Amino acid sequence: MDILVVNQAEVATLLPMPECMEVMADTLCALAGGDATLPLRTVLRLADGRSAFATMPAALARPAALGVKVITVFPGNEGTRLDSHQGAVLLFEADQGRMLAVMDASAITAIRTAAVSGVATRALARADATDLAILGAGVQAATHLEAMRLARPIARVRVWSRTAARAEAFARQAAARSGLRVEAVESAEAAVDGADVVCTTTAAREPVLRGAWLAPGAHVNAIGASVATARELDAAAVRRARLYVDRRESALAEAGDFLLARAEGAVDDAHIVGELGEVLTGRVEGRRAPDEITLFKSLGLAVEDVAAAAHVHARAVATGAGTRVALGGERADA
Ligand code: NDP
Repeated sequence: MDILVVNQAEVATLLPMPECMEVMADTLCALAGGDATLPLRTVLRLADGRSAFATMPAALARPAALGVKVITVFPGNEGTRLDSHQGAVLLFEADQGRMLAVMDASAITAIRTAAVSGVATRALARADATDLAILGAGVQAATHLEAMRLARPIARVRVWSRTAARAEAFARQAAARSGLRVEAVESAEAAVDGADVVCTTTAAREPVLRGAWLAPGAHVNAIGASVATARELDAAAVRRARLYVDRRESALAEAGDFLLARAEGAVDDAHIVGELGEVLTGRVEGRRAPDEITLFKSLGLAVEDVAAAAHVHARAVATGAGTRVALGGERADA
């Protein structure tokens, strides 16, 4: 039986950001409607105390899709030629369990995470948001710039990163690619001051964004911290905002930004207004006023990876992309 192997460059071609945003919006609506099954991910902490090995399975009822992302997260890879997130998404066919494809998880993760933030920004940011701040200058910073431009008419971008030279390199490349004015600034506060949309995309474990810096009416996508013990936002940023999550169950188990603010007494569970899919399906109210601060806390869900993989697979089959490899599935005695 043949499976399809889809590499990093092929995933990037087969999963353009505008298409991925539509797939993610549909997937989050399906999740909100009870059409997805996904347990909490399992995360093996590795001996160095920083790195992790995670498995993320999910099944989607409509359109039917079944799969798992297996991924390593090695924050120490920053600044090397290796991605800090590496692995594969294995896609299975839902009727007879046949494995259909193995595809690069770095590219799927980079694109689908920003696509979900794009969907959140389209749903929650002010319609006239033009001024973007990005904290962090890695893989997610780049894909977030692309998604934010699709969500809102971004005209100005400020970038801050821990290592100033990386922020400067990011700003140069992003300006050349986008034709926008992209400035590297010397502090996170200088980036966020007056910004309409703020994306936090760092591997920080302690706050890099303070609530006191946020302008009235700002929308924040917080995507960097995805374990209960790490945060990018201080308690004031969470308390000041109307808080939306990708999934309530995951947020209550894994979202350090929320859980540490709760432990400090700044918020309680009722502070979570709802899931993004609930906003998209009209079950939960989004932004209520132009001066309200909205916050989307993203942890990343297996169902996003599996839906993105199903889209890549369909496109690969239609265009003849990818490499076919014979790999089991048939009974030897059949
Ligand atoms: P990269 O390795 O490409 O970039 C990491 C960024 O984090 C760099 O800009 C780096 O700054 C910054 N950084 C690292 N440590 C610190 C620190 N202690 N304080 C402040 N900044 C720091 O990673 P990605 O862009 O792929 O991922 C960024 C974060 O997003 C990670 O935490 C990752 O786990 C998370 N993530 C979340 C997903 C989700 O679905 N929510 C999906 C994928 C990733 P510099 O280089 O300037 O030193």
